[in-house]
Amino acid sequence: MNNKKIWLSLAQMGGQEQRFIQQAFDDNYVVPLGPNVNGFEEDLEKYLGQNIHVVALSSGTAALHLALVQLGVEAGDEVICQSFTFAASANPIAYLGAKPVFVDSEADTWNMSPHFLRQAIEHRISKTGKSPKAIIPVHLYGMPAKMDEILSISKEYNIPILEDAAEAIGASYKGRRCGTLGEFACLSFNGNKMITTSGGGALVCKTEEVAQRTMFFATQARDNAPHYQHSHIGYNYRLSNVCAGIGRGQMLVLDNHVARRREINNLYREFLKDVPGLSFHTNPNEDFKSNYWLTCIVIDPAIAGFTREDVRLKMDSENIESRPLWKPMHLQPVFKDAPFYGDNTAEKLFNDGLCLPSGPGLTDGDIERVASVILGLVKDSEL
Ligand SMILES: *Cc1c(COP(=O)(O)O)cnc(C)c1O
Repeated sequence: MNNKKIWLSLAQMGGQEQRFIQQAFDDNYVVPLGPNVNGFEEDLEKYLGQNIHVVALSSGTAALHLALVQLGVEAGDEVICQSFTFAASANPIAYLGAKPVFVDSEADTWNMSPHFLRQAIEHRISKTGKSPKAIIPVHLYGMPAKMDEILSISKEYNIPILEDAAEAIGASYKGRRCGTLGEFACLSFNGNKMITTSGGGALVCKTEEVAQRTMFFATQARDNAPHYQHSHIGYNYRLSNVCAGIGRGQMLVLDNHVARRREINNLYREFLKDVPGLSFHTNPNEDFKSNYWLTCIVIDPAIAGFTREDVRLKMDSENIESRPLWKPMHLQPVFKDAPFYGDNTAEKLFNDGLCLPSGPGLTDGDIERVASVILGLVKDSEL
């Protein structure tokens, strides 16, 4: 039996990465600025289009942090955040001494519910007398959030959107790319994301001035003076020119990665289409084009005859890595005191949902092997 380990989402090199890294060494640009950083930013701007400006940073988390700094978030402020996400969406709120207010997901996209977003804003204003300072919707697993509804609420209450597009490069909403829809957007190039710089991120900004300001904060907020003069608290968040070289190589294969992840998603749908009680995270209609960063399924145990955890443990015993969906932030011990608005849609998804191996390096045979574990459980439950 083929028992080779199948991982959830491995980085996949395109082949040109080392050429850009070698160039950095040849030019002695082994520093957090230089031609690879500039080139990578230009590649991302060309890819995203829409008149935006990209600043490459050391992580997606750093990008979220610098966006909140520039949105004027201060100690005691409230920031609305999608509850169903990775902790990195919410942690930067706490870095600033501000308080997260968590909003549940809706069942179509699994992302921020416009209904509970409105309810949260109105309740916070009536309770605290102040508007939340920002709204952080997430395009989870590469699925675009219901941005028209969210943007219209943002406009109505005059609260800016910080898009968490860490998992969503390559996805689009109504023909516009995720990462270009909010006042700011963060991207991540961590090892498990759509493309990697071995660790890195970017902040997408609307204007050149804001991009310059982002660079200013990312490089220790040094004022314009011959000596070291500071009027603001700064950060050391720029991306290294060596890592940016990996990113330039990865940009050459981004379209292939997106295509392959979507192909993998289709393969799973084909293999698993007759499994009772199994459903997929699915584009609600033509307006939504997920990159299918990870293929996610939900198991209804009452119909399937087995649970999400049965699937995960069986996969584990077959040397296949799978993972429960994100545990919502309002259920995390560290955020237990944060307000939450919702109807437990995210909690149900967490209880019954599973991410399947989806890396672009997986073969059709690998996908079939993963699917056969689930098909085996179906057989067992019919006995
Ligand atoms: C990965 C991720 C981040 C953080 O990105 P890093 O580059 O790992 O700091 C933020 N939000 C979401 C939803 C993510 O998946």
